[in-house]
Amino acid sequence: LLCPSMGPHMSKVMESKLQHKIAKNKALLFALGGRLDMEGALTTRDRVGIQDFVLLDETTEVAIISNLKKRFSKDLIYTYIGTLIVSVNPYKDLDIYNKKQMDVYMGVNFFELPPHIYALADNAYHTMLTEFNNHFILISGESGAGKTEASKKILQYYAVSCPSTTLMNTVRDKMLMSNPVLEAFGNAKTLKNDNSSRFGKYMDIQFDSQGDAVGGHILNYLLEKSRVVHQNHGERNFHVFYQLVEGGSDDLLTQLGLKRDVQHYYYLTQGECAIVSSINDKNDWKSVKNALQVIEFDETNTNHLFRVVASVLHLGNVHFDPDSKGHALLKNNTELNWVSDLLGVDANNLKEGLTFRKIEAKTEQVLSPFTIDHAIYVRDALAKAIYGQTFTWLVNRINESMENKDSPRKTVIGLLDIYGFEVFYVNSFEQFCINYCNEKLQQLFIQLTLKAEQEEYEAEGIEWEPVQFFNNKIICDLVEEKHRGIISILDEECLRPGDATDLTFLDRLEEKMGNHPHFVTHRLADKMTRKTLERGDFRLLHYAGEVTYCVVGFLDKNNDLLYRNIKNVICLLQECFSAVDTTNKRRPETVATQFKNSLQKLTEMLMAKEAWYIRCLKSNESKQPGQFDEALIRHQVKYLGLMEHLRVRRAGFAYRRKYEDFLKRYKPLCPATWPHWRGMPADGVEVLAQHLGYLPDEYKMGRTKIFIRHPRTLYATEDAYEK
Ligand code: ATP
Ligand code: MG
Repeated sequence: LLCPSMGPHMSKVMESKLQHKIAKNKALLFALGGRLDMEGALTTRDRVGIQDFVLLDETTEVAIISNLKKRFSKDLIYTYIGTLIVSVNPYKDLDIYNKKQMDVYMGVNFFELPPHIYALADNAYHTMLTEFNNHFILISGESGAGKTEASKKILQYYAVSCPSTTLMNTVRDKMLMSNPVLEAFGNAKTLKNDNSSRFGKYMDIQFDSQGDAVGGHILNYLLEKSRVVHQNHGERNFHVFYQLVEGGSDDLLTQLGLKRDVQHYYYLTQGECAIVSSINDKNDWKSVKNALQVIEFDETNTNHLFRVVASVLHLGNVHFDPDSKGHALLKNNTELNWVSDLLGVDANNLKEGLTFRKIEAKTEQVLSPFTIDHAIYVRDALAKAIYGQTFTWLVNRINESMENKDSPRKTVIGLLDIYGFEVFYVNSFEQFCINYCNEKLQQLFIQLTLKAEQEEYEAEGIEWEPVQFFNNKIICDLVEEKHRGIISILDEECLRPGDATDLTFLDRLEEKMGNHPHFVTHRLADKMTRKTLERGDFRLLHYAGEVTYCVVGFLDKNNDLLYRNIKNVICLLQECFSAVDTTNKRRPETVATQFKNSLQKLTEMLMAKEAWYIRCLKSNESKQPGQFDEALIRHQVKYLGLMEHLRVRRAGFAYRRKYEDFLKRYKPLCPATWPHWRGMPADGVEVLAQHLGYLPDEYKMGRTKIFIRHPRTLYATEDAYEK
């Protein structure tokens, strides 16, 4: 039943093993409330769709979407394409993430149970333990598709189901509790998602050779700092600000000089939605405080954190009036004094830094007064810098807390959860970076699946009908190519002394990118698309759709400079700002270049690990449970390359292993290969395969590896081996 390909050649041992498995599955079927849909059972198949797209009768887009829809209507949000999981956001709590379910999936082969994120987590874990190698789980999809939720569920799975000791429990708790803290500081309500990640996160979960989770490490990527000082309509600042004001005790607020009124703070109200029904800031504050304790933030650090958050709120309320010459004067000193008090910096220095620029001439220093606009600009730059540095500091503290120095041998499973692709009415530098990051991850996916897979068949001499796919490398190059890409041109403009502005940057882009098929500007708009573009916009045709970017602020945000005297002010925040190097006269790398380099490093690091994929789909734009927007799903299925992936999977082989390795593991199963096979490894594997009853269509012999079409075949072999 489970392994039709084994046919009449199945050995007695395997047969009994399979009987055992069927019995176990029946028990599991019962445990799952009868939801297990065994392949071949037509009635179930009609009812709940196919659980692995590889088994669909036809690989058309219509068939894929109809299968997804059928499953979604039954709250079956996961479907496989081989070992890849497609997940559709249900926008409601499902009773499928609990200890009982975890137990069901633990140690069970991938395809023996209905698709679940736990199955993927468990298989990555067991492969890591048996093969002693590193893995990562790439979770992708657009904003609001469910990436962060998926990553949290996987982390919970490891925390709850791996073996544990008391010591390890503390590490696990810390890993789990790092989430509410980082989400408070790094997530915010956007128009796409009420809990949108505004930073990229890669977390390594480290395991020792026993499989105990012994430590964790987080790498963070480009936080959207501009949100601290500005939010678009319908959006909020980072959660933590609202949590503190709503949930902080009376005493704490008094100490920090804060009013319990989010409407009072300029930095909290620009989006005009400080209070959101789906978010309970008061409760979330309690969770964050509790989490800070678990990750062992002592009183000093906790105070430090709250003081910084409060100081940013006060800073936002520092307003200026013009003097007779139009220069900026502080409206009053109250808020500024709070900032100086909370951060422990000199109030006069701070005041001077906010209203004057210090120009160092040869022998003297000249103070040049700011206009009001300029003073506001400097105030905002300071707020962003303080918050940005605090975030980095927070991640470092969390890493220290999760660090495990004792356990010798470590393998890791990495979880990558970044900000998803997003398109707003107005898109700026931040969306440019976020969408570029998504292009890079799509490129990684293509490289590791569609491209590498097909190249391997070719290299191994396996007969293969190539599957065509759109390779988004052309868009990655457009953004990141040395000397020619958008980031290089942006950097050049940032470095060019004199009259460089956002618009001259756009001119350069037009000059250099004019004919690029994925780039459109005002002048070229009519030719390329029918849609008009404003002067000051450029449009990129991303893999996931077109996005129009407004260039205003690009140079500034890319430079991210602070005037020296204000920089000196924040340098007094010794520990927090140890990362700010004010002595270094060399110009730091621009934001986009730093980001580009960090993504490059990330890609290299991931390429050295074994990959697992979760592709998250957003079910509807209005965040409603039960709504399956077919057009929206179709669009995502298309751009995520799911059809192509399916085609490669269907025509391809689920499993491959070097002849030497295969022989080494399974030679005890055949008298002719046990204890030694004297001939060529490939011949030994062939003898073994014949003996195990592999049907000719089930496997292919490449130049250096055996390729096995269905995992079931291998599972049966593995079961026989275990016996
Ligand atoms: P972004 O790129 O903006 O960070 P994201 O892909 O991380 O988006 P999530 O924050 O994970 O999106 O999900 C958005 C919301 O969708 C969640 O807050 C939750 O309400 C709902 N959601 C996502 N996944 C699930 C799930 N598996 N079960 C129930 N609800 C979910
Ligand atoms: Mg997220």
